[in-house]
Amino acid sequence: MEFLKGVHVIETYATTTLLVDDRLVLVDTSADADAGKVLDYLSRIQVKPKDLSTIFITHTHPDHVGGLAAIKHGSPAKVASSRVEAEFIARKRVYDGPPGIQRHPGTIVDVPLDDGQVHDGLRMIFTPGHTRGSMSLLDETRSFCIAGDAVNNESGLRPMPDQYNVDPTQHRESIKKLAKFHFENVVMGHGTPIKGGASAKIAELAKRL
Ligand SMILES: [Zn+2]
Repeated sequence: MEFLKGVHVIETYATTTLLVDDRLVLVDTSADADAGKVLDYLSRIQVKPKDLSTIFITHTHPDHVGGLAAIKHGSPAKVASSRVEAEFIARKRVYDGPPGIQRHPGTIVDVPLDDGQVHDGLRMIFTPGHTRGSMSLLDETRSFCIAGDAVNNESGLRPMPDQYNVDPTQHRESIKKLAKFHFENVVMGHGTPIKGGASAKIAELAKRL
């Protein structure tokens, strides 16, 4: 569905987001190794993987990185992640957090991002704790945040369940950090996107942590 003008939210087990502007940007790639649902959606709105400029991966969990190799295959799109997460996505390092052994085929990260860095129109906000190098992304032109798994909205706004967090304390610090930015709209990896007043709601949550 088109969540905001030029922002498509593709429902898979974890949310994939497509931004359509003067360039095409994908954030996260679903759990499916063949990326079937994502590729079907792209084809329905006549977007070809070869036309993507960047594929951002918020973190290395299987439901976000699973389809990366399939989408990247035959596409000149650059892959971007946080610098910390890049080695786990490429499978150059063994990931030591939940949910256990990584099975996705390693894909090289072309653009390792540092906190605050802007790439292809999105500002990286480093939000570790869910995984070692989780990140969120800010589209300042739309007042829109793609939080990844920095927060969860499946049954109210809250942290991710701690069984999936490598460092629960750091995860909560990252929610407090995210709450300091201003954005009206947010999409997260799991749960209902928020349209209007989004960062205020995250700030309310941060106060309770
Ligand atoms: Zn996750």
